[in-house]
Amino acid sequence: MEVQPAERLRKLPPYLFADLRRKTAAARRKGVRVISLGIGDPDVPTPDPVVEELCRAVQDPADPDRHRYGCDQPAPEFPQAVRDFYGRRFGVTPAEDQVVATMGGKDAIAKLCMAILNPGDLGIAPSPGYPTYNIGHVFAGAVTYQAPLLAENGFLVDFDAIPNEARRLAKILWLNYPNNPTTATAGLEFFQRAVEFGRRHDILIVHDNAYSENTYDGYKAPSILQVGGADEVAIEFFSLSKAFNMTGWRVAALVGNASAVKALRTAKENIDNGTLRAVQFAAAKALNMAEELSPAINAVYRRRRDMVVNALNRNGWSIEAPIATIYVWAPVPQRYERSSAAFATDLLERAGVVVTPGLGYGQWGEGYFRISLTYPDEVLEEALSRITGA
Ligand SMILES: *Cc1c(COP(=O)(O)O)cnc(C)c1O
Repeated sequence: MEVQPAERLRKLPPYLFADLRRKTAAARRKGVRVISLGIGDPDVPTPDPVVEELCRAVQDPADPDRHRYGCDQPAPEFPQAVRDFYGRRFGVTPAEDQVVATMGGKDAIAKLCMAILNPGDLGIAPSPGYPTYNIGHVFAGAVTYQAPLLAENGFLVDFDAIPNEARRLAKILWLNYPNNPTTATAGLEFFQRAVEFGRRHDILIVHDNAYSENTYDGYKAPSILQVGGADEVAIEFFSLSKAFNMTGWRVAALVGNASAVKALRTAKENIDNGTLRAVQFAAAKALNMAEELSPAINAVYRRRRDMVVNALNRNGWSIEAPIATIYVWAPVPQRYERSSAAFATDLLERAGVVVTPGLGYGQWGEGYFRISLTYPDEVLEEALSRITGA
């Protein structure tokens, strides 16, 4: 039997990286030692105290529920740690019904779409942007209006440029600052405008705060929940993946508007049954120790950021060092006439280095490429010498 995938799989945007993956495999077959700088997945292990807490909790004889469904036997320690962390870090303490633990951000983004969007609904997602917002829309049968993130606006969503039709029809609007892939950051006044926009047009504002803890040079990223009354129209995903080198652990939280939190909770109870308690205990540990853990994690990225930015700037680029995220976002050299795919292909073929073409994050990402800082210093160094020598 040849299984025919559902319509929704056919509606997924073409996977731009598939072509690059094919060419990478071909180069490797020819014996080229290909270096990939493509994926945002921390190479440095999870901090020891977090791993130790996982080990303790998973074999704790005093916890008879340690092996059971995470949503039937929730560990209140994790949502409590999220509330405490938001209080310490952002000066806002969400209420108990304003927090739900999720199995990472990505999974919960898609489930939130299924929980609140009807077929035919409209969602507004940034372009370039994290692909899962649009993919979540597709899985829910909803349609995406792409809000361009332009360099001249500091890669911020331009609310005034969103057409009336989209304002009227949209049910949800996605934001993500510090931003993947552009590395842009947003101040509190931007989030104020976002909340106003949501209130005026009756649109749920969803802020994906995946990188608020990956910041440098003294910069502290805000939470949208710091805006007074934000929880009337806004929610925020907070993931531990990038903050604490925990991508494989699948743990995050949705925080804010209680009705949206409740909708996601209902979807989760019916689909995933929740995160293993030991993971929740360990995640609580990470949040409770955030102030101690973050500096060492960020020191690594800051050093690599400087390596990459300095090497590029010595070779014809003029980019500012990003003050947040684990990426460098740079324009493709002029001779490629803004084609990020042509640049990425050429770089692979001539230098054996894979970078992510901006077009992979949406049409408005064209003209740029992204380098991830989640590779060991020596790998980055080798890749940079190949890029700048190519
Ligand atoms: C990495 C990333 C996430 C997802 O992380 P999870 O591991 O699923 O929690 C979410 N949003 C953005 C923008 C990301 O870059």
